[in-house]
Amino acid sequence: MNHDYDLFVIGAGSGGVRAARVAAMSGARVAVAEEYMAGGTCVVRGCVPKKFMVYASEFSQAFKAAEGFGWSHCDMTFDWPKFLDAKDVEIARLSGIYVSNLQNAGADIVHERAELLDAHTVKLTPTNKTVTADKILIATGGRPTVPQDLPGIEHAITSNEAFHLEKLPKRIMIVGGGYIAVEFAGIFNGLGVDTCLMYRGANILRGFDNDVRSHLTGEIEKRGVKVILGTEHTRIEKTDKGTFLNHLTNGHVEETDVVMYATGREPYTAGLGLEKAGVKLNERGAVMVDAFSKTNVDNIWAVGDVTDRINLTPVAIREGAAFAATVFGDNPTSFDHDTVASAVFSQPPIGSVGLTEA
Ligand code: NDP
Repeated sequence: MNHDYDLFVIGAGSGGVRAARVAAMSGARVAVAEEYMAGGTCVVRGCVPKKFMVYASEFSQAFKAAEGFGWSHCDMTFDWPKFLDAKDVEIARLSGIYVSNLQNAGADIVHERAELLDAHTVKLTPTNKTVTADKILIATGGRPTVPQDLPGIEHAITSNEAFHLEKLPKRIMIVGGGYIAVEFAGIFNGLGVDTCLMYRGANILRGFDNDVRSHLTGEIEKRGVKVILGTEHTRIEKTDKGTFLNHLTNGHVEETDVVMYATGREPYTAGLGLEKAGVKLNERGAVMVDAFSKTNVDNIWAVGDVTDRINLTPVAIREGAAFAATVFGDNPTSFDHDTVASAVFSQPPIGSVGLTEA
């Protein structure tokens, strides 16, 4: 068959861009579709802006300590809108680098939404053009998920909105005990927001070393975060003042200006047309793949968070590189998902690799 492209990648995030670049550099005719900004979750609404917020929030601790080291006039103020503008300028710059890296490798970037019509045909929106490709790579990532059955959940924001809040709240309730909840608790607390971190389990960061988990909880509390464990919402109530009453299973009611849910992410497969191509999903809605990231359809692969294996940027990058080596480099490469290192940008930050003591 004479297709328009050898490879069509859906999603210009960490995994998709790496796969596309390596494939294009091997001589393949490659296109990448992206409905929003190139760079994906990590660059646009994840790791990178999050790290900027961590940096911004850490200055408050440094200013507090500075006088003890001879500095004076450390009564600095923080300008949230100014920070947001600076962050967005830098993210636009980084996203532009992703685009030029793709172009320099010889890949086409298509700023449209892509949907599969069959295993070789992609429809692009809004132009309604169709293109065909010999091979397809799904790299559409994930998006935040919240418990839909909780009364008042429509009042809660997720990390997506936390990057664009119009103004810094005075008080925030953050729900969850994973990476995002713990990182944002440190961020908002450092920026001077009265921060409450609520987790349903007995100790935050399930899966990390137990000593590290309890030590970190103590450190977070010392810095001023109120940590509430073993509790969940029964409902979130909006008041006439525009604040929120957090009704909890332990009987307490906490009033805050913002409620943020950080209770995990789900694979982003909605409206992708995977059923038209016959691609199978697992019970969590993730694209099912083998060790070489190949789906049940012979010419379709998937990498990164949409496969819900280990949802970390460097993992997606390595999966993308392994796919390109296997399919376009004649070098079958699978990625080893065992004992992958990870870091949480909590304050203080923690990192872990290998097995925990437990
Ligand atoms: P995580 O899976 O890390 O944590 C989800 C948290 O929400 C857990 O504490 C979980 O509790 C809790 N939870 C889940 N459902 C509910 C519910 N219905 N009610 C109350 N609590 C609930 O997800 P995150 O959203 O923090 O992050 C998503 C992914 O993004 C991470 O898994 C990670 O892979 C990636 N990430 C990585 C970062 C890094 O590398 N530094 C930074 C940010 C994100 P329980 O433990 O009881 O299940």
